[in-house]
Amino acid sequence: MSLSAQYDPKNIFAKILSGDIPSVKVYEDERTLSFMDAFPQSKGHTLVIPKVPACNLFDIAQDDLQDLIVKTQTIGRAVRDALMPDGIRIAQFNGEPAGQTVFHIHFHVIPIWANATLGRHGGEMADINELNDLAAKIKAKL
Ligand code: AMP
Repeated sequence: MSLSAQYDPKNIFAKILSGDIPSVKVYEDERTLSFMDAFPQSKGHTLVIPKVPACNLFDIAQDDLQDLIVKTQTIGRAVRDALMPDGIRIAQFNGEPAGQTVFHIHFHVIPIWANATLGRHGGEMADINELNDLAAKIKAKL
């Protein structure tokens, strides 16, 4: 998908927002949803998405983007406090060649431990019980 592509209202995150596809939720308000990445690169890999339809960083309204990055900080702080990683990577990809696979803008919150190898992007599917446990720990710090 190119940077100028039209928003597809049937993309997987749109379906998560509408409730057609389940997700392990961490946080929700009128503008934002945060949920566990189903194919995590590390334990606690969390996604933060806006409710407005936008493919990428360049077609979201600035006001919505400001809200999204502030909410990403809030979720990132909760991930930090819940899991105490050595570092946290905040990632965001625009367009397929840049690594984007879901064309609804999102920020990745990826906890990093110094002695652990990071899984590959969109790798193995996580165990649902483990995702529920991690989400409960993160929620407790929000
Ligand atoms: P990106 O490649 O930056 O577009 O990131 C999309 C992310 O969504 C990847 O890290 C996937 O593992 C994740 N993902 C894809 N499908 C789902 C799903 N149904 N629930 C949760 N995360 C998903």
